[in-house]
Amino acid sequence: MMNVLCRLRPCSKSAIVRNFSLTSSCLQDQSCKLLVIGGGTGGCTIAAKFAKRLKKGSVIVLEPSSDHYYQPLFTLVGAGVTTVEATRRDAKSVLPSNATWIQDSAECIDPEKCVVKTAGGREIQYEYVVIAAGLKYDYDKVPGLREALDDKQSRVSTIYSPQYCEKTWADIKSFKGGEAVFTYPDTPIKCPGAPQKIAYMADSYFGKTNIRSRCNITYNTFMPVIFGVKKYADALMKVVAERRINVNYKTVLKEVRADKREAVFFNTDDRSKLTTVPYDMLHVTPPMSTPGFLSSSPLSDDTGYLDVDKFTLQHRKHPNVYGLGDCTTTPNSKTAAAIAKQSQVLEQNLLSSMSGGQPLRQYDGYGACPIVTAYGKCILAEFLYDGVPRETMPINQARESTLAYYMKRDLFPFLYWNFMLKGNYHGPEFVRKIINPFAK
Ligand SMILES: Cc1cc2nc3c(=O)[nH]c(=O)nc-3n(C[C@H](O)[C@H](O)[C@H](O)COP(=O)(O)OP(=O)(O)OC[C@H]3O[C@@H](n4cnc5c(N)ncnc54)[C@H](O)[C@@H]3O)c2cc1C
Repeated sequence: MMNVLCRLRPCSKSAIVRNFSLTSSCLQDQSCKLLVIGGGTGGCTIAAKFAKRLKKGSVIVLEPSSDHYYQPLFTLVGAGVTTVEATRRDAKSVLPSNATWIQDSAECIDPEKCVVKTAGGREIQYEYVVIAAGLKYDYDKVPGLREALDDKQSRVSTIYSPQYCEKTWADIKSFKGGEAVFTYPDTPIKCPGAPQKIAYMADSYFGKTNIRSRCNITYNTFMPVIFGVKKYADALMKVVAERRINVNYKTVLKEVRADKREAVFFNTDDRSKLTTVPYDMLHVTPPMSTPGFLSSSPLSDDTGYLDVDKFTLQHRKHPNVYGLGDCTTTPNSKTAAAIAKQSQVLEQNLLSSMSGGQPLRQYDGYGACPIVTAYGKCILAEFLYDGVPRETMPINQARESTLAYYMKRDLFPFLYWNFMLKGNYHGPEFVRKIINPFAK
């Protein structure tokens, strides 16, 4: 498998070296102290930290996209609060100028030889590698879904992609009543709260525009519970009851029949038990998986995720490999909030590895999920591994709050662009110690 995947091809002209520290325009082979695969939330944050610490030219970031999105705001794009353009920056403007950006993608990795081969035909030799390649969307696993998303009239959308999240707003805005159906797939996903957040925002909009009594809102989720942390699940059960939102558990989208405006679901207890429901708007959270170079590499476990120690973020077999973000096996909620904390632990542990020591810092599983429940309302879920709540503010954060809504809308994006991507934000622990010192 490796040999087939790793066939070296000539350097492609389409793959561009955005090289801030080297002058050659197309280098076939390169080497570096630290290679960062993926320049999204996790990759950009870690590259910024090490570009400051290591000599110029020591860090290479391998990232194919010229756009960087602040994805947590896609939910509010879907609700018409902001635009997709407001969530975007040029990758060049956020990646650290002291690192070398290669605009290309990893095609395979050989951890024994410490080499990555790229789609553009390069070989990159590394001493250490951090893998932060995120998740890809498997639209084609649901027959009819891709075609329905691409059809402007289909009334099928997803907030998960910058390509389609404005379509969600168009569908909500033009909804005149009927069946509004929201889904959650049977794979791990980024931001597990987002599939229901957009259902709450749709409910809120239908209420504001006085059509709610003509709408039936249904949330079909693979999960057996509404949310993985009991404290917030209890609060959300009250929200769905008050708002008259139907919730079907263990119910997964199998097919979209856009021509008939029908969606087919299966039940996870009995996959042959199918239910066909009509929709007037369908919001889909697509199935997700790790990029192919990772799932087919010896670095992944049998689920295709990067197999790291959940505390140290170091690979279980290869000590010069670390990972963070959505593509790893760590059982936390896959959020940017988690990455803020992970980046600090990874930085300290990788520095220790680089100087011949052991990785001693431990990630506690911190993640946060601001669950917008209406325009101007939000439940700010914060928790550690095993669903243990760890709240920053000295109030009960399971209650809907206006402050939390504006934190999600304004404060978190500000912290992201101005501090986190520059390697200077590690989550709210410092603030918590001051304003909520008795938090357990
Ligand atoms: C709708 C939505 C709502 C969300 N809401 C929240 C929220 O409220 N709060 C919160 O904290 N988080 C939220 N998140 C989750 C958060 O955005 C992600 O968890 C985070 O961005 C993941 O970062 P990452 O670095 O792991 O992956 P990404 O930021 O996705 O970056 C992965 C990068 O790897 C690159 N890549 C892929 N394949 C390759 C390859 N072969 N070679 C090289 N590079 C490659 C990609 O181009 C990409 O740039 C939300 C996400 C979405 C989509």
